[in-house]
Amino acid sequence: MKHKQFEEWLRLSLYNELNDQEQELFTHHLQTCERCRMELMELKKIHATMHFRKRIAISEPMLQDARRNLRLRIQADSEKITLWMKLKSILDDFLASPLQVAFGGAADG
Ligand SMILES: [Zn+2]
Repeated sequence: MKHKQFEEWLRLSLYNELNDQEQELFTHHLQTCERCRMELMELKKIHATMHFRKRIAISEPMLQDARRNLRLRIQADSEKITLWMKLKSILDDFLASPLQVAFGGAADG
């Protein structure tokens, strides 16, 4: 198992999205990898802060939707989709369909 895989599992573990076998492998890796231990500590701090803010700002259905899409979003991260590419995609949508973006696009992540 490569370290890169465990970097993704770090985030999944915060949402209890790992199955039993994955969790066991992950725990074992943490014991041998200081880098992942440090990363997990940092993520937990960030996660606690974000969770606090989300309770105020974001409705429960949106949170559940975000959890469902977590694996997909992590996959997108690993494909190194840059912010610029996301912006360009939004710009393309805007040029192709201004009305749709104006009335329906604002709520999309
Ligand atoms: Zn590691």
